[in-house]
Amino acid sequence: MSDCLFCKIVAGEVPGDVVHVTEGTVAFRDVAPQAPTHVLVVPRTHYANAAELAAGDPAVMSELVTAAAAVAAAEGHDDYRLVLNTGEGAGQSVFHTHLHVLAGRPMTWPPG
Ligand code: 5GP
Repeated sequence: MSDCLFCKIVAGEVPGDVVHVTEGTVAFRDVAPQAPTHVLVVPRTHYANAAELAAGDPAVMSELVTAAAAVAAAEGHDDYRLVLNTGEGAGQSVFHTHLHVLAGRPMTWPPG
């Protein structure tokens, strides 16, 4: 998608602090981290949200979770939170599927 920020990071057209890559995913640090580890794992192909990715390419949806686990392990975290905001009301601000990986501090529930 020509006007998508995360497509541009995947393509290297916008700088991103990339920490992990797989055939179908790219993981880069969030620009406004909410925890000591805050990484976004995105599919290389544009899908607006997690449900669309799961329907369109379930293998890459699975790869997203596996990549997130690898990122957490590489940063030394056994415990981590995965978040998939879907829709503006749920806090989604970038409409290219992204799995938040948050770790390195105590997590509370429910989230805000
Ligand atoms: P959402 O609110 O859609 O679930 O998450 C979008 C995330 O993208 C936010 O946590 C926000 O800080 C992050 N973000 C927004 N713009 C950029 C950017 O240009 N680079 C990076 N690395 N992260 C960004």
